[in-house]
Amino acid sequence: MADTDFSTLPLPPHVLANLQQLGYERMTPVQAATLPLALAGKDLIAQAKTGSGKTAAFALPLLANLNPRRFAVQGLVLCPTRELAEQVAQELRRLARAEDNIKIVTLTGGVPLRMQMASLAHGAHAVVGTPGRVLDHLGRESFALDALATLVLDEADRMLDMGFAEEIARVIALCPKERQTLLFSATYPEGVAQLAAKFMREPQSVTLAERHAASKIRQRFYEVTESERLHAVGLLLNHYRPASTLAFCNTKQQCRDLVAVLQTQGFAALELHGDLEQRDRDQVLVQFANRSCSVLVATDVAARGLDIANLEAVINVDITPDAQVHTHRVGRTGRADEAGWAFSLASLDEMGRVGRIDEMQGGDSVWHKLAELTPARAEPLRPPMVTLQILGGRKEKIRPGDVLGALTKDLGLAFEQVGKINVNDFSTYVAVERSVADQALRGLNAGRVKGKSVKVRAL
Ligand code: AMP
Repeated sequence: MADTDFSTLPLPPHVLANLQQLGYERMTPVQAATLPLALAGKDLIAQAKTGSGKTAAFALPLLANLNPRRFAVQGLVLCPTRELAEQVAQELRRLARAEDNIKIVTLTGGVPLRMQMASLAHGAHAVVGTPGRVLDHLGRESFALDALATLVLDEADRMLDMGFAEEIARVIALCPKERQTLLFSATYPEGVAQLAAKFMREPQSVTLAERHAASKIRQRFYEVTESERLHAVGLLLNHYRPASTLAFCNTKQQCRDLVAVLQTQGFAALELHGDLEQRDRDQVLVQFANRSCSVLVATDVAARGLDIANLEAVINVDITPDAQVHTHRVGRTGRADEAGWAFSLASLDEMGRVGRIDEMQGGDSVWHKLAELTPARAEPLRPPMVTLQILGGRKEKIRPGDVLGALTKDLGLAFEQVGKINVNDFSTYVAVERSVADQALRGLNAGRVKGKSVKVRAL
């Protein structure tokens, strides 16, 4: 038995079976280094990045420390951002499936406090949230930390960079002394060391050798039949829930068919094809870049020259005959310091192409089964933002500041609820958080931008 087998860990059979169902065959390096210590109850400081499997590295010990029959918050994960909190909660829910009825609540800004209070009132076993919002709830006594067994600080360095040091300290002050604390951080600056020294009990440090940059991209292949292919894209999206995905097809017809299938399934998917007029192309790209469209479907030709940061996933709906093109497609995710996913759907007829890709990439492709893809949550994947189009742009002398002012000063939206603002000649596009989109739409239509009333519609 290899020492990266999950079965070497003191985990009960139903948990091991669930891991197998999820397709977790071996521990990732971070997991192999941390899980034996963490499951033995030690406090840990671990250096790990997104995409390394770090979430399971703290989620498994957190779940192991939890008694499902006890209706109290026993696990708390503090994360720097709402998106990370959502991802962590999803992974926790997936790993918690082995157990009946474990309730996990996310507490982040942007969602009304009262809705979160209602979820907490139904009893939660674990909470995942951003420090400010968690503290807010603790102050209102929406929940307590008396029964806390595990505290996790995820991306501790980023939380400190974002100025959360004081909030974190205040939350920790409300935790019981007897608890396990797990700290994950990509870097180990002085601030993190101080945090650890102050709040952890003889923590063990786990560092891993820097990995090759290319490994930021995780590639997975899925074997499909032709009749499964388009449907499989929806399964991938609901399972991995990437906020922005670029899906490549080999033909325009396949793009059209895929968009139709995805839209019928309720996904916010748009097609980028060569026949679009410039204005329509701009509109599609604005929606994708401002995170109000989850999936952009394109051929290689249509996607040429596209430069979009923050792409969380690339899906090769068809395998390209040219291995070099495959490398280009995949290289569009995992840019900068972010981790990225690359999924490829291959039929038996395409195995020759996969062989050539393998040869070029100098490694064995990793295969997973479609049956492993289970939606992390009941709701379909929805983009975090909605684009509002204001009929009026540079010609009307509208500037981004005018729109931001109308939304925040006049309508009372928070700065964080307003996303990208693109001013074109005749139109202005502004992304707003989904939860406030109706309010913003009504408000803008009733109010004024730059002293004039404007027509606004949601795309
Ligand atoms: P993370 O670094 O926690 O964001 O994990 C990245 C992705 O890897 C998540 O989608 C996990 O579901 C997946 N994952 C975590 N551990 C394993 C494993 N041991 N084997 C396969 N996939 C894993």
